[in-house]
This record gives sequence, structure tokens and C-alpha cells, in this order.
Amino acid sequence: MKKPRLGFFKYSCCAGCEFQTFYFQKHLMETLSSFEIVFARMISSGGTPEGPFDIALVEGAITEAWQADELKKIRKRSAVLFAIGACAVNGGIPAIKANRPEIEVEENVYGDLSAIHSIRPHPVDAYVPVDGHIRGCPPGERDLYEALTSALFRKKPDFLRQSVCIECKLKGNVCVLVTFRMPCMGPVTNAGCGALCPSYNRACYSCFGAMKQANAPALARRFRTLGMSGDDIARKFTMFDADSIEFRKAAELYED
Ligand code: SF4
Ligand code: SF4
Ligand code: SF4
Repeated sequence: MKKPRLGFFKYSCCAGCEFQTFYFQKHLMETLSSFEIVFARMISSGGTPEGPFDIALVEGAITEAWQADELKKIRKRSAVLFAIGACAVNGGIPAIKANRPEIEVEENVYGDLSAIHSIRPHPVDAYVPVDGHIRGCPPGERDLYEALTSALFRKKPDFLRQSVCIECKLKGNVCVLVTFRMPCMGPVTNAGCGALCPSYNRACYSCFGAMKQANAPALARRFRTLGMSGDDIARKFTMFDADSIEFRKAAELYED
């Protein structure tokens, strides 16, 4: 039986998601061996991006027009396509600049703008429909496995739709927000990481992005009672998911 064809594509990002997928998983290698990896720059300089693909994994935010054009072609050639990692799912780190005019950011960074053709950063699903979001910076094994096996068995992937707090409580962790007054983003962050950071007594910084319909302004006001400055609170809600409706409402409470 022919193996399903997998392509891994990178746009504006650090490529950490691809690195994580192919080199830092404990249990995923067996699942990956069920695929023919026909395009993945991190593991081979060969291959062609022409497709067709049974599954396409796309990392990185879209920050240039050519990327949007290429992405649309990949979507047409792929049976299923997943956005992978915070940059592709939410805009992530590249979208931190999105609350300032593009030209102002370019002028701050580059002396000569003649070779710069950037556009306002957007997640992958701003340009093409996706079959699911593999969240995180970088993603955890649970959601990667879910995406790959759903493509293998042609089923709908089952990504979690609850907050990190639920995973945290199920693990029996001490709450770092209540007990140590750390500004934990767990209450408003989509689950899937197994409450990784609070499990090591660290506050969640929301690399999985906003949970749908989370009451982020309430958490922002709670952070204020911890003595955080307005700037620091606004930064908390614009680090990984600045474009989400939920986090935008919270950031706007304290942005200048
Ligand atoms: S989500 Fe994080 S690890 Fe993945 S490409 Fe973006 S910055 Fe790198
Ligand atoms: S530590 Fe954070 S994620 Fe865990 S229960 Fe407390 S607020 Fe929620
Ligand atoms: S606890 Fe928060 S910051 Fe840590 S891995 Fe999970 S979502 Fe990301």
C-alpha cells in the first residue's frame, strides 16, 4: 500500500515547529514513518513542493504577498492542511508588530527599504481554509499525533476545546496564580500542552493562544491586582495571539 504523501512548508518563523516535529518527539517517529515525506527542508534538500499531498503542515505567519500566493497553491494540491505552531495558528511572535503601522516597523528595522516587501502579518487561515490548528510554540506531541493519525485514518481531528486550567487541575497541580500570585494565562488559554508550565511551577504565557469566548478582560483586571503595570499586562495579551478577539479586548484595557 502506498504511504500518504506529507509536505512541510515554512513561512515567516524560526522553523522550530519543523525541528520539533522531526527531531524532538519521543513517540511520534513511528507515526511519521507511516508517511512518505516528500517535502521538508529541515530533513532533505530534495523533493518538490508541487504535490499532490495527502497532508500539508504549514508553519509560520504570512508576512509577504508571495507567501500567500504559494500557500493558496499548496492548499489546492493538499487533501488536508494543518496550520502548525503559534506563528501559523495565531500570527504568533511575527504578529507582535501588527499593532503598529507596517511602514513604521520597517523603518525602525531596516536602513534601506527598497528590498522589503512585507505585509501585515496574518495566520495561515486568514488566506486558506485549514483542517485544524496544531497549537503551541512549539507544538506538543498530543496535537501533532492527533493531526497525523486523523490524516492516516481520514477522520476529523479531535483537538481540545477547554482551558489550560482544566488540564492543570486534572494533574493536581498547585495553582501558581492563586498560591504564588504569578500572572498565569492558563484560564484564557486553549489546552493541549498538558499544562506544561504550571506543572513546573511556572506561569502559562499562552503559547497555545486564546481559548474561544474566554473572558480575557477579567483576567487582565486580576493581573492588575497583582501589581502589574498596564504595559506588562498589554504585552501578556499580545505576545502570541494579538489578533484574537478575546485577547484584543484585554490588551485594549491597558494599551496607550
Ligand atoms: S510557533 Fe514558535 S517554534 Fe514554531 S515556528 Fe513559530 S516561533 Fe518557532
Ligand atoms: S496554575 Fe494557571 S493553569 Fe493552573 S489552575 Fe492556576 S491559573 Fe489555571
Ligand atoms: S502552559 Fe501555556 S505557555 Fe506553557 S506550553 Fe502550555 S500553553 Fe504554552
